[in-house]
Amino acid sequence: MTDTSAHSTAGAAPSPAAPSAKAAGEKTAYLDVRDLKVHFPTDDGLVKAVDGLTFKLERGKTIGIVGESGSGKSVTSQGILGLHRRTRARASGQIWLDGEDLMTVSDERMRELRGNKMAMIFQDPLSALHPYYTIGSQIVEAIRVHHSDTSKSAAKARAVDLLGLVGIPNPTRRVDQYPHEFSGGMRQRAMIAMSLANDPSLLIADEPTTALDVTVQAQILDLMRKLQQEFGSAIIMITHDLGVVAEMANDILVMYGGKAVEYGPVNDVFYRPEHPYAWGLLSSMPRLDRVRSARLNPVPGNPPSLINIPPGCAFHPRCRYAAEVAGDACRTQVPDLLGTGPDHVVRCHLAQSRRAELFAADVKPLL
Ligand code: SF4
Repeated sequence: MTDTSAHSTAGAAPSPAAPSAKAAGEKTAYLDVRDLKVHFPTDDGLVKAVDGLTFKLERGKTIGIVGESGSGKSVTSQGILGLHRRTRARASGQIWLDGEDLMTVSDERMRELRGNKMAMIFQDPLSALHPYYTIGSQIVEAIRVHHSDTSKSAAKARAVDLLGLVGIPNPTRRVDQYPHEFSGGMRQRAMIAMSLANDPSLLIADEPTTALDVTVQAQILDLMRKLQQEFGSAIIMITHDLGVVAEMANDILVMYGGKAVEYGPVNDVFYRPEHPYAWGLLSSMPRLDRVRSARLNPVPGNPPSLINIPPGCAFHPRCRYAAEVAGDACRTQVPDLLGTGPDHVVRCHLAQSRRAELFAADVKPLL
């Protein structure tokens, strides 16, 4: 059974949509994100890329953040890493990492933490790696920037060890090669090696396997699982692929229009989802393990513009069940994120019993 200890308690507890500030002495999870907002003022209006996000993560656990492009997934990870600092972004809320609120630490402290205690694995290693420098020199730099007392030769020896650890054959030779001399899968392994350079306890993987073919994808996910077991890292896996999170995550957070619309243990959100948007994501997923007689069911329409988020439930223009809700609540009232089971919360006006009926009738037969 999925361990849900990484997860906030929902249900009778205050809604995660409206968390309280941390009280003195209160214990926080290893990563405890509370009411995170990242808004960008633009000439066309305020872009509410992340609008009140709350989640928790313990060491050794993985949370999958899923949603279409523009749902706010990547801005969430950039917010945690403090990459919005020194930009025009307006960020608020709390991001507790190991008892330290990242929203209030100095820029200098944030630089120490970034790449050291927390690290990012990017989607496209070819653009994340510098083409002019060897793989080894980039890992050496990542080590020495945080440990200036480490000699170049010791850092290079560590780079060789790391390349070996992530399964790159002949690392003593490969360490002196350039990114273009690596295949796509090997480059992603090298990126993972670089992100592990300073033993980070929080790894943020932003679509780490999207650019890879299915076989290499499986190898990279396997590698990340092994490394997590070895180092006890907390992992945030950002992806649009529910199949990847089902394999990797303990908890799943589904984002739409900058907000969480469903959040809970993987067994609930993947196998018994309750939000119509999560139903759409699941039923549009190709399955290779089943004979499928019907066509895939894409979610109709497009994700909303974050400058002009629809009033009420942001999903209502695309939701085939909006008419099921009495009055025009779906078009006028933002639903709260409410508990629907232990540790499972959903943002939808439909009654829970009706959601169960609709899932059984309309969605389950498609899965
Ligand atoms: Fe659909 Fe209404 Fe639920 Fe939004 S609140 S998902 S529009 S039924």
